[in-house]
Amino acid sequence: MSLKGPGRLVVPAVRALSPYIPGKPVSELEREYGLTDIVKLASNENPWRASEAARAAMRAAVDDIWLYPDGSSFELRNELSRFLGVPIDCISIGNGSNDLLMLLAEATLLPTHNAVYSQYGFAIYPLVIKATGAEAREAPALPANSAMPFGHDLDAMARLIDGSTRLVFIANPNNPTGTWVDNAALERFIAQAGPDTLVVLDEAYFEYAQGFGVADGVRWLAKYPNLVVLRTFSKAWGLAGVRVGYALSHPAVADALNRLRPAFNVNVIGQVGALASLRDPSHMQAGIAQSLTELRFLQEQLDARKLATVPTAANFLLVRVGPHAAKVYEALLRGGVIVRPVSGYGLPEYLRVSVGLRVQNIKFLETLDSLRGSLW
Ligand SMILES: *Cc1c(COP(=O)(O)O)cnc(C)c1O
Repeated sequence: MSLKGPGRLVVPAVRALSPYIPGKPVSELEREYGLTDIVKLASNENPWRASEAARAAMRAAVDDIWLYPDGSSFELRNELSRFLGVPIDCISIGNGSNDLLMLLAEATLLPTHNAVYSQYGFAIYPLVIKATGAEAREAPALPANSAMPFGHDLDAMARLIDGSTRLVFIANPNNPTGTWVDNAALERFIAQAGPDTLVVLDEAYFEYAQGFGVADGVRWLAKYPNLVVLRTFSKAWGLAGVRVGYALSHPAVADALNRLRPAFNVNVIGQVGALASLRDPSHMQAGIAQSLTELRFLQEQLDARKLATVPTAANFLLVRVGPHAAKVYEALLRGGVIVRPVSGYGLPEYLRVSVGLRVQNIKFLETLDSLRGSLW
């Protein structure tokens, strides 16, 4: 970042940040390559989309958007309270869970503090930590040849916690790996982190992970005041575009987030869409079942091609395509298929592929097959 002009006014911690690189938007690929019929399997979005009830509610809410939203998102928090069996004063709503990750860091971290996350952990964690000037401590992940390749190593993470550790981020399952941690080990970790370290358990893929026996952090909330559980409407609920996530925490943490958040951080359409979704979870549940079927299909097809995949409890797969992964990514783009490169995570031989509809998965596989013999 330039140190001439107004750039020099930017605080050093922010100057040093590397921006988050999202999956390539469909419109960008259309512009760049003049393609149509693009398949995007790059951001773990839900191709079975939001329920018809949610979409109808959002369409109807357009008439009311001259009014500010309810800044407290009361109705949505009230519905979540019922849906989850968690007291309403433990619930915070964010503009996606990304918003809550930032608020948690801002609320708890001074430059003298540190926060812990895992190698191959979700890229937003080091970003929100470093933005505060605090030290970002990255624990080495489990090795490639373990049962959970590249997964969180809770023992390694625990070793990095000291008296100045205010936050620990655990994604369960993790993105971009899909891996998850053992339930008993996770509970022990939360207990041992102690009262002065908040454990942020990011359950963005919770709904997908249920069938894999992955922990439900909500049942630990009453027991561990240092636990914060994050969930989102962006993935299984099919509402990534309207940006709604939530945090479940001790009321004192919720109170801090409420003081710090922008006054109207969650818009009218998002609040209405999330509320209507909760009242009609059957569509979401059907999408989970279809996603699992398609995940199995993709896994089988990749196995048949001798392409290794990392165990996943989510709606995406980390696939090892080999040393030409960057070229495979580019060639897939030219074929109209967007997946996610993960070299930025230190996984240069891998690509992350979101589970799509059957036709989308087949287009991905066929485009991949067209590169066989040259790029993998
Ligand atoms: C997608 C994702 C989120 C959710 O982000 P939103 O801001 O709620 O859309 C959070 N954590 C992880 C690990 C994710 O993959």
